Amino acid sequence: MSRPESPSRPARPKGTLFCPTCGHESGLDGDWIAVEGGTLVCPDCGAVVVAQPTFGVPA
Ligand SMILES: [Zn+2]
Repeated sequence: MSRPESPSRPARPKGTLFCPTCGHESGLDGDWIAVEGGTLVCPDCGAVVVAQPTFGVPA
């Protein structure tokens, strides 16, 4: 339960993203549609998966 998140602790080696809308799964360098501003859009349903390049966000 008590698991403090260290700032210098890599969560994932590469970072896999999941689309909350359709469940599409791909890595950060996957088939996501990159929009200016660091936004990644799902190629399947067009939903915004990542609104900004923020790391360390609790899922
Ligand atoms: Zn999707």
